Amino acid sequence: MGHYLDSVPFSGIIRIRDMMYSVKDPFRLDQGDVSFDAPDTVKAAMRRAIDDNRSHYLQTTGVPRLLELLTEKLRTRNGIPVQDPNEVMVTTGGIHALFIACQALLEPGDEVIIPDPTWPPCAGNVRAARAIAVPCPLHEHLAWRYDLDELASKITAKTRAIYVNSPHNPTGGVLRRADVEAIAALARRRGVWVLSDESYEDVIFDEAEHVSPASLPGMYERTISLYTFSKTYAMTGLRLGYLAAQDSQLRERMKKVLFYTASNVTSVVQFGGIGALEGSQVSVGAYRDELKARRDLFYGGIKDAASGQLTGEPPRGAFYAFLRIDPRWLPPGGTEPGQSLSWTMAEYLISQGRIGCVPGVDFGANGEGYIRFCFARDRRELSGALESMRALFRSRSMLNASC
Ligand code: PMP
Repeated sequence: MGHYLDSVPFSGIIRIRDMMYSVKDPFRLDQGDVSFDAPDTVKAAMRRAIDDNRSHYLQTTGVPRLLELLTEKLRTRNGIPVQDPNEVMVTTGGIHALFIACQALLEPGDEVIIPDPTWPPCAGNVRAARAIAVPCPLHEHLAWRYDLDELASKITAKTRAIYVNSPHNPTGGVLRRADVEAIAALARRRGVWVLSDESYEDVIFDEAEHVSPASLPGMYERTISLYTFSKTYAMTGLRLGYLAAQDSQLRERMKKVLFYTASNVTSVVQFGGIGALEGSQVSVGAYRDELKARRDLFYGGIKDAASGQLTGEPPRGAFYAFLRIDPRWLPPGGTEPGQSLSWTMAEYLISQGRIGCVPGVDFGANGEGYIRFCFARDRRELSGALESMRALFRSRSMLNASC
């Protein structure tokens, strides 16, 4: 890698995170971290693992019991025809699963179609594998889904894969079954892979449905399905993810990347994962219900709190509000030349309102003009942020009078 890494961008979200450390009493709506704690089933299993001295090397791809439980989960909940636990690999979080998949699948110069906007490590991981990220817009007027003809038009002879992320970070868009079927048909017809990032599979609201591409006919053989415990079980800091793929040659390559980057995933955390899957799943539904209540609280308050200058429809999945900024908005002191609207708004909200948020442009060119808030924070923090915003936007003088 060496100097090539100088050309791989760092995530803008991390830049914001660093900025937030200098803010006193901040409302941390910038980071995609839930305020819940991991369920007792996870904590008890990790305590047991410590007491049982589970602190030694493990099998490279994961503890057999965990792989067995994941195989069962992928078969029954995702409908993916996983035959054998060897087809599953445990990783250090979902981000590591994506790194492994990109390193094993891509050749220099391969193209990967990614959504625009996108979670920044998606583009970063494609670039880190010396491949080319080709953005394809998600459209607000389509509830942040693709125009499928536009997606098809992005495929070239160099396309190796389509990265799909549903439910989607940062927009909360959820692909419909018909979308996933159309993408699958496209992948089969054009002979490309699907990298399916299903990190938010359990964070789904209203009548939305999560469809795993690898569950569709002829798709498991050309899909790498990526998952994490971070969101479903509120285990962001514990770093546990996994992936599934049918292709044995690809798996052998992925196993090498896994081995050379981690040897094996932290033992105690893997036992925590066993606890999560063997135990009651009540917390998963409870988190989802609470997230829905928080979504409704945030969207119920935002229109009024932002005086109509931040708008959008409540998302069907994930836990982000990706809101359109009124293009006429100006901060009280005016804008700095060359600074984007979304950065101007983010800096204003952070410095004047202590409200953490991420400028839309950090997720891709098509994200410019939007701003992302995470509503997985606790209700008090969300209400505090709304109150702070209300105070900031009260003054009508902030509107550009000339527009
Ligand atoms: N994919 C997406 C779309 C995400 O938003 C995240 C976390 N923010 C991840 C993958 C990875 O999460 P983790 O590494 O914590 O498992």
